[in-house]
Amino acid sequence: MAPTNDGPFVVSEPCPSCQGQGAIDEQPCAACHGTGVQRFYHGTKADLEPGDLIEPGYSSNFGKGKQATYVYLTGTLDAATWGAELAFGEGPGRIYVVEPTGPIADDPNLTDRKFPGNPTRSYRSREPLRVTGELTDWQGHPPEQLKAMKDNLQRLKREGVEAIDD
Ligand SMILES: [Zn+2]
Repeated sequence: MAPTNDGPFVVSEPCPSCQGQGAIDEQPCAACHGTGVQRFYHGTKADLEPGDLIEPGYSSNFGKGKQATYVYLTGTLDAATWGAELAFGEGPGRIYVVEPTGPIADDPNLTDRKFPGNPTRSYRSREPLRVTGELTDWQGHPPEQLKAMKDNLQRLKREGVEAIDD
């Protein structure tokens, strides 16, 4: 069954090993890197094939275009949808199913102060992500919601607020 976009905080596919808890007997679940997420997504405008590696610095969704040192992934379809819609470049957004090839950590841009406890299940890694498939039947945000998000990002850029990337 295709995952559905039920909003920003809904994990599309909970990890079956730990039932989405991220831990088994109080030990971090190895199957999902302790995240409780079975499938990770990466939203982009790049055209990729299964087996391709997405390297840190491959694309940066916003900021001054400085070399990103991380690559981002998420367990929620909503966050991946934003990534696809807001990515630099022309053409349609794409959402790929990816697997990390190294350790992952919570994305500080979307955790802590803004959203306590990482409810959008957003992570980043210094190691490449391997593309295992593409999600083709996702739905974008409504045009007015997308415009509001882009306006907000423009405002942050004017105010000199950059994505945290260190
Ligand atoms: Zn797990």
